[in-house]
Amino acid sequence: TELPADPITENTRRQVNNACFSYVLPKKTSQPKLIHVSKECSKDLGFTDKDLQSEEFLKIVTGNKVLESTTPYAMCYGGHQFGNWAGQLGDGRAINLFDIAHNNKQWTIQLKGAGETPYSRQGDGLAVLRSSIREYLCSEAMHHLGIPTTRALSLALTGDDVLRDMLYDGNQAYEKGAIVSRVSPTFLRFGSYEIFAARNDHKTLKILVDYTIVHHFSHLGKPSKEVYIQFFNDVMQRTLDMIIHWQRVGFVHGVMNTDNMSILGLTIDYGPYGWLDNFDFGWTPNTTDAQNKRYRFANQPNIGLWNLYQLANALYPLIEEAEPLETILENYKLGFEKKSFKMMTSKLGLLEDDEKDLKLIQTLEDILHLTETDMTIFFRKLSGFKKDNSINGFQLIQDAFYSIESITDGIKKEWYDWFDCYQFRLEKEKLSDDERLAKMNAINPKYVLRNYMAQLAIDDANKGDYQLIDELFQLLKQPYDEQPKHEKWFAKRPEWARHKVGCSM
Ligand code: AMP
Ligand code: MG
Ligand code: MG
Repeated sequence: TELPADPITENTRRQVNNACFSYVLPKKTSQPKLIHVSKECSKDLGFTDKDLQSEEFLKIVTGNKVLESTTPYAMCYGGHQFGNWAGQLGDGRAINLFDIAHNNKQWTIQLKGAGETPYSRQGDGLAVLRSSIREYLCSEAMHHLGIPTTRALSLALTGDDVLRDMLYDGNQAYEKGAIVSRVSPTFLRFGSYEIFAARNDHKTLKILVDYTIVHHFSHLGKPSKEVYIQFFNDVMQRTLDMIIHWQRVGFVHGVMNTDNMSILGLTIDYGPYGWLDNFDFGWTPNTTDAQNKRYRFANQPNIGLWNLYQLANALYPLIEEAEPLETILENYKLGFEKKSFKMMTSKLGLLEDDEKDLKLIQTLEDILHLTETDMTIFFRKLSGFKKDNSINGFQLIQDAFYSIESITDGIKKEWYDWFDCYQFRLEKEKLSDDERLAKMNAINPKYVLRNYMAQLAIDDANKGDYQLIDELFQLLKQPYDEQPKHEKWFAKRPEWARHKVGCSM
């Protein structure tokens, strides 16, 4: 076996064997400037307002100061990308600075875009303002939606320009460089374990799995074969729950490669993600996936399972029994049927049991596809329906249609029929209209980070105006509340944004 490279002098791009991470220092930047700080995230970490305003804070979150006795590092991991094993990937542009313990919780602080690491491969280790704004706003928005996610602490400019290929014409252009400081109890991913299994390095694999259990799954007890199985079961449950949340709010991750699957079941790596405007099972925001649409909205639950198979394979050498792993994977499928049904009935405000509910849901999903129908607006407006049928359902939700002209008599009839069934079904419910509305509004968000909204904030920021970043940040802190002064964000995607998609690099 090879000896690990000298952590101080050796920072070249390479295969890193027999090690879970490499020490590496963040790059100094020429003119660091804070654009935004998440007060909510900073409170969870125990920072005071004074801390956030200090020069030292700015320096730390832009990689310009390394705290004494801390040892920043980049992590080694592999991954299956778009269904194929890609070998070593690793933190090509992420550097973990240190951990913070606060209120009995421990958090790792990580800089994204702070320069080269041994895992940078052909990349430059940097991030641009555009993608950093998208990551910053979306991870905090997801948190406030109640969806498991890594957090974002700060968004800052580096003052340095970054050269990027432009997707639309293939030319290169300079863009503003930026750094997001991200926060998570751990940044370990499925790929962190896969890499050692792929290399037949079962020794390091065991060290890492034991570490993970001791530090992040301590409720399972001391590592043992039995506990490894429990561990996999926990990861399965968390992954499933996370993906059900995504389906609930219309979030499409876009790159569900196994290197982007958190071992804690947190949403991680906000690249070309997107939010459904019109409800469309086939939609993906990722232009590089436009052919196969592997990571399209409706396929996310299947991919979650596929990814768990890869993790099961990686853990197998420590367990050496296929059956318990297969049972857990089987339970993912059963769990999905149950939980996704429960999620959909809750979105519809249906709490009582009724055997016809599955049909009601499937019919609705079909009609939502007949003509472009905004998912967020539809579900939000639906809560205003009345049991006594005193409100015309079709008229109630018609703001959700992208083109009222496309509603043929046939489509209209389908809606009327569906609302007849829905009204009939609601009679079985015990809650009053007002109570049902409150329940529905607590799980059907009014405000989500539509792609065009992030794009507007990016366009302004590129001109040096960061006000919209703050406006969206504040708005998305209360996604389920009525916010009259922000009503303009409860609106369909404008026509110009129709074919715009997310962008990752
Ligand atoms: P992603 O598709 O964003 O999950 O990235 C896949 C891999 O590419 C990860 O190992 C990243 O660290 C790496 N990567 C992405 N962008 C860069 C970059 N600008 N420089 C170096 N590595 C990168
Ligand atoms: Mg990634
Ligand atoms: Mg990425």
